[in-house]
Amino acid sequence: MKSVEELGWEPHTVGELDHRIVKAPYIKLRSLTEGPNGDVVYAIDLRVTQPNTNYLSTVELHSFEHFLLAGFRKYAPKNFISVAPMGCQTGFYLTLFNEGEAVRIYSFYENILNDILHASEVPYANIRECGHFENHNLELAKNLAKKLLENKSSWRQVL
Ligand SMILES: [Zn+2]
Repeated sequence: MKSVEELGWEPHTVGELDHRIVKAPYIKLRSLTEGPNGDVVYAIDLRVTQPNTNYLSTVELHSFEHFLLAGFRKYAPKNFISVAPMGCQTGFYLTLFNEGEAVRIYSFYENILNDILHASEVPYANIRECGHFENHNLELAKNLAKKLLENKSSWRQVL
């Protein structure tokens, strides 16, 4: 298994961090779990807004969750396990299987955000595939994607 450094993450940012000292937006590895056969599950935090300061609205969180779901299925079909909103409304939990390279994960995220800018609808925003299908807003998702892309250079800066 590759080490945290070899994967491109800063070792002192792995694990749980004091939420008062992090600097959103950022992407960081939270944990890596190796199975008995050498497969590895990676848990990654996509922190969008500053904890205890700024929060995503429930509609932003929900539409973004759908876009991230569609996007990781598109860009990492063999590695994607799940993405879920943080209950504190400041970001998302991403789980990947056998893909923990920082540069790859930054690039998946960048591709997904660019796709949002050009999207004509929120994916899966229909009564068959969503549990609150009217709770979506494409324009809010686009504004958020634009803001995150403008701050791309700070994604690696966790602290
Ligand atoms: Zn939904």
